[in-house]
Amino acid sequence: MKFDSIIIGGGLTGLVAGISLQSKGKKCLIVSAGQSALHFFSGSFELCSAPGDYEDALATLPSSHPYSRMGVARTLELASGVKDFFLSSSIKLSGEDKRNHFRITPMGVLKPAWLTLDGYASVPSDRKMPWKKVLVANVGGFLDFHSDFLMAGLEKEGVECIPYIINIPELDRLRTNPTEMRSTNIARALTGNVLCELASQLSKAGAGCDAILLPAVLGLNDPENANSLKARMDIPVEFVATLPPSVPGIRTQLMLKAHFQSLGGTFLMGDTVNEGVFEGNQLKGIKTVNHADMVFQADNFILATGSFFSRGIKASSTEVFESVFGLDVDYTEERPQWYSPDVFEKQPYMEFGVRTDDKFRVSRDGNVLSNVYAAGSVLSGFNGLKDGCGAGVSILTALDVADRIANGF
Ligand SMILES: Cc1cc2nc3c(=O)[nH]c(=O)nc-3n(C[C@H](O)[C@H](O)[C@H](O)COP(=O)(O)OP(=O)(O)OC[C@H]3O[C@@H](n4cnc5c(N)ncnc54)[C@H](O)[C@@H]3O)c2cc1C
Repeated sequence: MKFDSIIIGGGLTGLVAGISLQSKGKKCLIVSAGQSALHFFSGSFELCSAPGDYEDALATLPSSHPYSRMGVARTLELASGVKDFFLSSSIKLSGEDKRNHFRITPMGVLKPAWLTLDGYASVPSDRKMPWKKVLVANVGGFLDFHSDFLMAGLEKEGVECIPYIINIPELDRLRTNPTEMRSTNIARALTGNVLCELASQLSKAGAGCDAILLPAVLGLNDPENANSLKARMDIPVEFVATLPPSVPGIRTQLMLKAHFQSLGGTFLMGDTVNEGVFEGNQLKGIKTVNHADMVFQADNFILATGSFFSRGIKASSTEVFESVFGLDVDYTEERPQWYSPDVFEKQPYMEFGVRTDDKFRVSRDGNVLSNVYAAGSVLSGFNGLKDGCGAGVSILTALDVADRIANGF
Protein backbone atom coordinates (compact mmCIF):
# COMPACT_ATOMS: atom_id res chain seq x y z
CA MET A 1 0.00 0.00 0.00
CA LYS A 2 1.38 3.41 -0.95
CA PHE A 3 0.82 6.75 0.85
CA ASP A 4 2.32 10.22 0.52
CA SER A 5 3.25 10.19 4.21
CA ILE A 6 3.22 7.62 6.98
CA ILE A 7 3.15 8.76 10.59
CA ILE A 8 4.29 6.37 13.29
CA GLY A 9 2.39 7.14 16.51
CA GLY A 10 -1.14 8.49 16.90
CA GLY A 11 -0.80 10.70 19.98
CA LEU A 12 -1.08 14.50 19.90
CA THR A 13 1.96 14.89 17.60
CA GLY A 14 0.96 12.23 15.08
CA LEU A 15 -2.64 13.45 14.87
CA VAL A 16 -1.69 17.13 14.44
CA ALA A 17 0.82 16.20 11.72
CA GLY A 18 -1.73 13.92 10.03
CA ILE A 19 -4.52 16.53 10.01
CA SER A 20 -2.13 19.17 8.74
CA LEU A 21 -0.87 16.97 5.90
CA GLN A 22 -4.34 15.68 4.92
CA SER A 23 -5.60 19.30 4.87
CA LYS A 24 -2.78 20.09 2.44
CA GLY A 25 -3.91 17.28 0.15
CA LYS A 26 -1.39 14.61 1.19
CA LYS A 27 -2.59 11.04 1.57
CA CYS A 28 -1.60 9.88 5.06
CA LEU A 29 -1.49 6.72 7.14
CA ILE A 30 -1.15 6.89 10.92
CA VAL A 31 -0.12 3.69 12.70
CA SER A 32 -0.66 3.83 16.45
CA ALA A 33 0.21 1.20 19.02
CA GLY A 34 -2.21 2.44 21.68
CA GLN A 35 -2.59 4.76 24.63
CA SER A 36 -0.85 8.15 24.48
CA ALA A 37 0.03 10.96 26.89
CA LEU A 38 -3.35 12.50 26.04
CA HIS A 39 -4.96 9.83 28.23
CA PHE A 40 -3.26 11.66 31.13
CA PHE A 41 -4.01 15.19 29.85
CA SER A 42 -4.55 18.04 32.32
CA GLY A 43 -6.95 19.96 30.06
CA SER A 44 -4.30 22.59 29.19
CA PHE A 45 -1.59 22.70 26.57
CA GLU A 46 1.66 24.14 27.87
CA LEU A 47 4.07 26.15 25.69
CA CYS A 48 6.60 27.27 28.31
CA SER A 49 6.59 27.81 32.05
CA ALA A 50 6.83 31.62 32.03
CA PRO A 51 3.98 33.27 33.94
CA GLY A 52 2.40 35.97 31.74
CA ASP A 53 4.29 37.06 28.57
CA TYR A 54 6.25 34.20 27.04
CA GLU A 55 7.88 35.76 23.98
CA ASP A 56 11.03 36.85 25.87
CA ALA A 57 11.23 33.52 27.71
CA LEU A 58 11.42 31.64 24.39
CA ALA A 59 14.53 33.59 23.43
CA THR A 60 16.35 32.39 26.58
CA LEU A 61 15.91 28.66 25.87
CA PRO A 62 19.08 26.66 25.09
CA SER A 63 20.02 26.15 21.43
CA SER A 64 19.14 22.42 21.68
CA HIS A 65 15.48 23.22 22.42
CA PRO A 66 13.10 22.49 19.49
CA TYR A 67 11.75 26.09 19.68
CA SER A 68 15.28 27.51 19.38
CA ARG A 69 15.94 25.20 16.46
CA MET A 70 12.78 26.39 14.66
CA GLY A 71 13.58 29.98 15.68
CA VAL A 72 11.48 32.16 17.98
CA ALA A 73 9.75 33.94 15.08
CA ARG A 74 8.70 30.65 13.45
CA THR A 75 7.61 29.21 16.84
CA LEU A 76 5.39 32.24 17.51
CA GLU A 77 4.01 32.22 13.96
CA LEU A 78 3.01 28.55 14.25
CA ALA A 79 1.65 29.10 17.78
CA SER A 80 -0.65 31.90 16.59
CA GLY A 81 -2.57 29.49 14.35
CA VAL A 82 -3.10 26.69 16.87
CA LYS A 83 -6.51 27.77 18.24
CA ASP A 84 -7.99 27.83 14.72
CA PHE A 85 -6.27 24.55 13.88
CA PHE A 86 -8.02 22.79 16.78
CA LEU A 87 -11.30 24.54 16.04
CA SER A 88 -11.26 22.80 12.66
CA SER A 89 -11.61 19.56 14.69
CA SER A 90 -14.41 21.23 16.75
CA ILE A 91 -12.07 21.55 19.74
CA LYS A 92 -12.47 24.98 21.33
CA LEU A 93 -9.46 26.32 23.23
CA SER A 94 -9.09 29.51 25.24
CA GLY A 95 -5.90 31.50 25.85
CA GLU A 96 -4.44 34.90 25.13
CA ASP A 97 -2.01 35.61 22.32
CA LYS A 98 1.62 35.41 23.55
CA ARG A 99 0.53 35.37 27.22
CA ASN A 100 0.17 32.39 29.52
CA HIS A 101 -2.83 32.20 31.82
CA PHE A 102 -3.08 29.74 34.75
CA ARG A 103 -4.75 26.38 34.99
CA ILE A 104 -5.92 24.98 38.32
CA THR A 105 -4.37 21.61 39.07
CA PRO A 106 -6.35 18.93 40.96
CA MET A 107 -4.10 19.87 43.93
CA GLY A 108 -5.47 23.42 43.85
CA VAL A 109 -2.21 24.92 42.58
CA LEU A 110 -2.05 27.55 39.80
CA LYS A 111 0.27 26.56 36.94
CA PRO A 112 1.09 28.54 33.76
CA ALA A 113 -0.87 27.31 30.75
CA TRP A 114 -0.88 28.32 27.09
CA LEU A 115 -4.25 27.04 25.80
CA THR A 116 -7.00 25.49 27.88
CA LEU A 117 -9.95 23.42 26.71
CA ASP A 118 -13.19 25.37 26.65
CA GLY A 119 -15.12 24.89 29.90
CA TYR A 120 -12.06 24.22 32.06
CA ALA A 121 -11.50 26.34 35.18
CA SER A 122 -8.66 28.79 34.57
CA VAL A 123 -7.35 32.06 35.98
CA PRO A 124 -6.23 35.05 33.86
CA SER A 125 -2.58 36.04 33.52
CA ASP A 126 -2.89 38.68 36.29
CA ARG A 127 -3.80 35.82 38.72
CA LYS A 128 -7.00 37.64 39.70
CA MET A 129 -9.42 34.91 40.80
CA PRO A 130 -12.60 35.00 38.71
CA TRP A 131 -14.83 33.96 41.66
CA LYS A 132 -15.41 34.90 45.31
CA LYS A 133 -17.46 31.84 46.25
CA VAL A 134 -17.61 28.45 44.48
CA LEU A 135 -19.34 25.13 45.00
CA VAL A 136 -16.74 22.35 44.73
CA ALA A 137 -18.69 19.24 43.81
CA ASN A 138 -17.48 15.66 43.66
CA VAL A 139 -19.23 12.42 42.75
CA GLY A 140 -19.91 10.25 45.83
CA GLY A 141 -17.29 7.45 46.03
CA PHE A 142 -15.06 8.87 43.27
CA LEU A 143 -11.49 8.63 44.57
CA ASP A 144 -9.64 10.20 41.61
CA PHE A 145 -10.64 13.75 42.50
CA HIS A 146 -9.59 15.15 45.87
CA SER A 147 -11.80 18.15 46.47
CA ASP A 148 -10.15 18.84 49.86
CA PHE A 149 -6.82 19.66 48.15
CA LEU A 150 -8.59 21.76 45.54
CA MET A 151 -10.52 23.69 48.17
CA ALA A 152 -7.42 24.26 50.32
CA GLY A 153 -5.61 25.68 47.28
CA LEU A 154 -8.49 27.93 46.26
CA GLU A 155 -9.02 29.18 49.80
CA LYS A 156 -5.35 30.25 49.90
CA GLU A 157 -6.17 32.40 46.86
CA GLY A 158 -9.09 33.97 48.77
CA VAL A 159 -11.96 31.94 47.26
CA GLU A 160 -14.68 30.71 49.63
CA CYS A 161 -15.40 27.03 48.87
CA ILE A 162 -18.57 25.07 49.64
CA PRO A 163 -18.12 21.27 49.37
CA TYR A 164 -20.86 19.15 47.82
CA ILE A 165 -21.22 15.42 47.13
CA ILE A 166 -23.31 14.42 44.10
CA ASN A 167 -25.45 11.32 44.60
CA ILE A 168 -26.94 9.92 41.42
CA PRO A 169 -28.72 6.52 41.58
CA GLU A 170 -27.42 5.63 38.07
CA LEU A 171 -23.87 5.64 39.51
CA ASP A 172 -24.70 3.11 42.29
CA ARG A 173 -23.69 0.18 40.08
CA LEU A 174 -20.18 1.66 39.75
CA ARG A 175 -19.95 2.21 43.50
CA THR A 176 -20.19 -1.53 44.27
CA ASN A 177 -16.65 -2.01 42.97
CA PRO A 178 -14.02 0.72 43.53
CA THR A 179 -12.19 -0.17 40.29
CA GLU A 180 -15.36 0.64 38.33
CA MET A 181 -15.59 4.12 39.83
CA ARG A 182 -13.28 5.68 37.25
CA SER A 183 -13.70 8.93 35.32
CA THR A 184 -14.40 7.20 32.00
CA ASN A 185 -17.14 4.96 33.46
CA ILE A 186 -18.75 7.93 35.22
CA ALA A 187 -18.68 9.84 31.92
CA ARG A 188 -20.54 6.97 30.23
CA ALA A 189 -23.25 7.09 32.93
CA LEU A 190 -23.66 10.89 33.08
CA THR A 191 -25.74 11.31 29.94
CA GLY A 192 -29.35 11.73 28.79
CA ASN A 193 -31.91 12.20 31.58
CA VAL A 194 -29.27 11.76 34.28
CA LEU A 195 -28.07 15.25 33.35
CA CYS A 196 -31.46 16.70 34.43
CA GLU A 197 -31.04 15.18 37.90
CA LEU A 198 -27.43 16.40 38.07
CA ALA A 199 -28.43 19.94 37.02
CA SER A 200 -31.21 20.00 39.60
CA GLN A 201 -28.89 18.89 42.46
CA LEU A 202 -26.14 21.34 41.48
CA SER A 203 -28.52 24.29 41.00
CA LYS A 204 -29.92 23.83 44.52
CA ALA A 205 -26.55 23.29 46.19
CA GLY A 206 -24.79 26.06 44.25
CA ALA A 207 -27.35 28.81 44.89
CA GLY A 208 -25.45 32.00 45.78
CA CYS A 209 -22.14 30.75 44.31
CA ASP A 210 -20.31 32.46 41.44
CA ALA A 211 -19.46 29.10 39.84
CA ILE A 212 -19.64 25.35 40.30
CA LEU A 213 -16.40 23.39 39.94
CA LEU A 214 -16.85 19.81 38.82
CA PRO A 215 -14.36 16.99 38.23
CA ALA A 216 -13.84 16.51 34.47
CA VAL A 217 -16.07 13.46 34.15
CA LEU A 218 -18.45 14.59 31.41
CA GLY A 219 -18.24 13.99 27.67
CA LEU A 220 -16.04 11.08 26.64
CA ASN A 221 -16.74 11.33 22.91
CA ASP A 222 -17.71 14.98 22.41
CA PRO A 223 -18.58 18.06 24.50
CA GLU A 224 -22.38 17.58 24.07
CA ASN A 225 -23.12 16.30 27.59
CA ALA A 226 -21.13 19.11 29.21
CA ASN A 227 -22.91 21.68 27.03
CA SER A 228 -26.26 20.12 27.80
CA LEU A 229 -25.63 20.31 31.57
CA LYS A 230 -24.52 23.95 31.31
CA ALA A 231 -27.61 24.84 29.26
CA ARG A 232 -29.80 23.60 32.13
CA MET A 233 -28.07 25.75 34.75
CA ASP A 234 -28.06 29.45 35.66
CA ILE A 235 -24.70 29.21 37.46
CA PRO A 236 -21.52 28.77 35.37
CA VAL A 237 -20.09 25.23 35.54
CA GLU A 238 -16.34 24.73 35.08
CA PHE A 239 -14.27 21.57 35.06
CA VAL A 240 -11.09 20.66 36.92
CA ALA A 241 -8.77 17.78 35.89
CA THR A 242 -9.05 14.46 37.70
CA LEU A 243 -6.39 11.82 38.14
CA PRO A 244 -6.08 9.62 35.00
CA PRO A 245 -7.70 8.42 32.84
CA SER A 246 -8.37 11.92 31.49
CA VAL A 247 -11.85 12.21 30.00
CA PRO A 248 -11.04 15.47 28.15
CA GLY A 249 -7.77 13.99 26.87
CA ILE A 250 -9.49 10.89 25.48
CA ARG A 251 -12.18 13.13 23.95
CA THR A 252 -9.51 15.35 22.37
CA GLN A 253 -7.78 12.31 20.87
CA LEU A 254 -11.08 10.88 19.54
CA MET A 255 -12.08 14.22 18.00
CA LEU A 256 -8.69 14.74 16.34
CA LYS A 257 -8.78 11.18 15.02
CA ALA A 258 -12.33 11.64 13.67
CA HIS A 259 -11.28 14.85 11.90
CA PHE A 260 -8.19 13.15 10.42
CA GLN A 261 -10.39 10.33 9.08
CA SER A 262 -13.03 12.75 7.78
CA LEU A 263 -10.28 14.37 5.72
CA GLY A 264 -9.59 10.97 4.16
CA GLY A 265 -6.71 9.85 6.38
CA THR A 266 -6.21 6.17 7.27
CA PHE A 267 -5.73 5.32 10.97
CA LEU A 268 -4.42 1.88 11.99
CA MET A 269 -5.30 1.55 15.68
CA GLY A 270 -3.60 -0.99 17.94
CA ASP A 271 -0.81 -1.85 15.52
CA THR A 272 2.93 -1.43 16.11
CA VAL A 273 5.56 -0.54 13.54
CA ASN A 274 8.45 -2.93 14.08
CA GLU A 275 10.62 -2.75 10.98
CA GLY A 276 11.76 -0.39 8.23
CA VAL A 277 12.69 -1.13 4.63
CA PHE A 278 15.67 1.11 3.79
CA GLU A 279 17.33 1.94 0.49
CA GLY A 280 20.47 4.06 0.81
CA ASN A 281 19.66 7.09 2.97
CA GLN A 282 15.90 6.71 2.46
CA LEU A 283 13.18 4.78 4.21
CA LYS A 284 10.99 3.13 1.57
CA GLY A 285 8.44 1.34 3.71
CA ILE A 286 7.48 0.01 7.12
CA LYS A 287 6.16 -3.29 8.45
CA THR A 288 3.83 -3.72 11.40
CA VAL A 289 3.11 -6.49 13.89
CA ASN A 290 -0.47 -7.06 12.66
CA HIS A 291 0.38 -6.88 8.94
CA ALA A 292 3.65 -8.77 8.96
CA ASP A 293 3.48 -9.77 5.29
CA MET A 294 2.75 -6.26 4.00
CA VAL A 295 5.04 -3.28 3.36
CA PHE A 296 3.38 0.15 3.78
CA GLN A 297 5.23 2.49 1.44
CA ALA A 298 5.43 6.29 1.41
CA ASP A 299 7.49 9.20 0.14
CA ASN A 300 7.97 10.63 3.64
CA PHE A 301 7.72 9.36 7.20
CA ILE A 302 7.22 11.08 10.54
CA LEU A 303 8.35 9.42 13.75
CA ALA A 304 5.91 10.50 16.49
CA THR A 305 6.33 7.58 18.86
CA GLY A 306 6.75 9.62 22.04
CA SER A 307 9.40 9.37 24.72
CA PHE A 308 10.03 6.76 27.44
CA PHE A 309 6.38 6.94 28.51
CA SER A 310 5.14 5.55 25.16
CA ARG A 311 8.27 3.49 24.55
CA GLY A 312 9.38 5.52 21.53
CA ILE A 313 12.66 5.86 23.46
CA LYS A 314 13.86 2.97 25.63
CA ALA A 315 16.72 2.36 28.03
CA SER A 316 18.66 -0.75 29.00
CA SER A 317 21.08 -0.67 31.94
CA THR A 318 23.84 0.53 29.60
CA GLU A 319 22.27 2.49 26.75
CA VAL A 320 19.37 4.61 25.60
CA PHE A 321 17.96 3.76 22.18
CA GLU A 322 15.18 4.54 19.70
CA SER A 323 12.84 1.58 19.61
CA VAL A 324 11.69 1.21 15.98
CA PHE A 325 14.63 1.82 13.63
CA GLY A 326 17.62 2.12 15.99
CA LEU A 327 18.07 5.79 15.09
CA ASP A 328 20.79 8.00 16.56
CA VAL A 329 19.88 9.25 20.03
CA ASP A 330 21.23 12.16 22.09
CA TYR A 331 22.06 11.00 25.61
CA THR A 332 24.84 10.97 28.16
CA GLU A 333 26.68 7.65 28.14
CA GLU A 334 27.60 7.65 31.86
CA ARG A 335 24.58 6.10 33.54
CA PRO A 336 24.95 7.91 36.91
CA GLN A 337 24.43 11.15 34.97
CA TRP A 338 21.07 10.04 33.56
CA TYR A 339 19.18 11.13 36.65
CA SER A 340 19.39 13.23 39.76
CA PRO A 341 18.78 11.40 43.08
CA ASP A 342 16.48 14.27 44.08
CA VAL A 343 13.23 13.39 42.28
CA PHE A 344 12.11 17.03 42.31
CA GLU A 345 15.23 18.17 40.45
CA LYS A 346 15.38 18.59 36.67
CA GLN A 347 16.05 15.04 35.44
CA PRO A 348 18.66 14.79 32.63
CA TYR A 349 17.00 11.71 31.08
CA MET A 350 13.96 13.83 30.24
CA GLU A 351 16.08 15.54 27.56
CA PHE A 352 17.20 12.29 25.92
CA GLY A 353 15.63 11.63 22.53
CA VAL A 354 16.13 11.23 18.83
CA ARG A 355 18.89 13.34 17.24
CA THR A 356 17.73 15.44 14.27
CA ASP A 357 19.21 17.94 11.82
CA ASP A 358 17.97 21.51 11.34
CA LYS A 359 14.91 20.20 9.45
CA PHE A 360 14.06 17.62 12.17
CA ARG A 361 15.29 14.80 9.93
CA VAL A 362 16.62 11.77 11.82
CA SER A 363 19.91 9.91 11.32
CA ARG A 364 21.15 6.33 11.56
CA ASP A 365 24.82 5.60 12.25
CA GLY A 366 25.56 9.26 11.58
CA ASN A 367 23.81 9.35 8.17
CA VAL A 368 20.79 11.62 7.81
CA LEU A 369 17.71 9.85 6.41
CA SER A 370 16.46 12.36 3.86
CA ASN A 371 12.76 11.43 4.07
CA VAL A 372 12.30 10.60 7.79
CA TYR A 373 11.37 13.37 10.23
CA ALA A 374 10.79 13.25 13.99
CA ALA A 375 8.38 15.44 15.95
CA GLY A 376 7.00 15.75 19.47
CA SER A 377 8.19 14.11 22.64
CA VAL A 378 10.48 11.63 20.85
CA LEU A 379 12.81 14.59 20.11
CA SER A 380 15.87 15.37 22.23
CA GLY A 381 16.84 18.67 23.79
CA PHE A 382 13.95 19.69 26.03
CA ASN A 383 12.40 18.83 29.37
CA GLY A 384 8.63 18.99 28.90
CA LEU A 385 7.97 18.70 32.62
CA LYS A 386 10.42 21.28 34.02
CA ASP A 387 10.21 23.69 31.07
CA GLY A 388 6.39 23.31 30.89
CA CYS A 389 6.50 22.91 27.10
CA GLY A 390 5.25 19.33 26.43
CA ALA A 391 2.24 19.98 24.21
CA GLY A 392 3.81 23.10 22.69
CA VAL A 393 6.74 21.08 21.37
CA SER A 394 4.40 18.33 20.14
CA ILE A 395 1.97 20.60 18.31
CA LEU A 396 4.48 23.09 16.89
CA THR A 397 7.09 20.59 15.69
CA ALA A 398 4.29 18.49 14.13
CA LEU A 399 3.04 21.57 12.24
CA ASP A 400 6.58 22.53 11.26
CA VAL A 401 7.45 19.10 9.89
CA ALA A 402 4.10 18.74 8.07
CA ASP A 403 4.72 22.14 6.47
CA ARG A 404 8.22 21.10 5.36
CA ILE A 405 6.92 17.89 3.81
CA ALA A 406 3.94 19.53 2.07
CA ASN A 407 5.90 22.52 0.78
CA GLY A 408 9.24 20.78 0.22
CA PHE A 409 11.58 23.07 2.19
C1 LIG B 1 1.69 11.29 31.55
C2 LIG B 1 1.89 12.56 30.77
C3 LIG B 1 0.97 13.61 30.89
C4 LIG B 1 1.16 14.79 30.16
N1 LIG B 1 0.25 15.81 30.29
C5 LIG B 1 0.45 16.97 29.63
C6 LIG B 1 -0.47 18.06 29.75
O1 LIG B 1 -1.47 17.96 30.44
N2 LIG B 1 -0.21 19.23 29.08
C7 LIG B 1 0.93 19.36 28.31
O2 LIG B 1 1.14 20.44 27.75
N3 LIG B 1 1.79 18.33 28.15
C8 LIG B 1 1.59 17.16 28.78
N4 LIG B 1 2.48 16.11 28.63
C9 LIG B 1 3.59 16.25 27.70
C10 LIG B 1 3.26 15.37 26.45
O3 LIG B 1 4.46 14.77 26.13
C11 LIG B 1 2.66 16.10 25.27
O4 LIG B 1 1.60 16.91 25.70
C12 LIG B 1 2.12 15.24 24.14
O5 LIG B 1 0.81 14.75 24.39
C13 LIG B 1 3.04 14.13 23.68
O6 LIG B 1 2.55 13.69 22.44
P1 LIG B 1 3.33 12.71 21.48
O7 LIG B 1 2.37 12.37 20.40
O8 LIG B 1 4.65 13.30 21.08
O9 LIG B 1 3.69 11.41 22.33
P2 LIG B 1 2.72 10.36 23.01
O10 LIG B 1 1.53 10.98 23.54
O11 LIG B 1 3.59 9.60 23.95
O12 LIG B 1 2.24 9.42 21.80
C14 LIG B 1 3.08 8.51 21.15
C15 LIG B 1 2.21 7.47 20.47
O13 LIG B 1 3.03 6.64 19.65
C16 LIG B 1 2.63 5.30 19.80
N5 LIG B 1 3.76 4.42 19.46
C17 LIG B 1 4.94 4.25 20.11
N6 LIG B 1 5.70 3.34 19.47
C18 LIG B 1 4.99 2.95 18.38
C19 LIG B 1 5.26 2.03 17.32
N7 LIG B 1 6.40 1.35 17.26
N8 LIG B 1 4.30 1.84 16.38
C20 LIG B 1 3.13 2.54 16.42
N9 LIG B 1 2.83 3.42 17.41
C21 LIG B 1 3.76 3.62 18.37
C22 LIG B 1 2.21 5.19 21.26
O14 LIG B 1 1.35 4.09 21.47
C23 LIG B 1 1.49 6.54 21.44
O15 LIG B 1 0.16 6.43 21.09
C24 LIG B 1 2.30 14.93 29.32
C25 LIG B 1 3.21 13.86 29.21
C26 LIG B 1 3.01 12.70 29.92
C27 LIG B 1 4.02 11.58 29.78
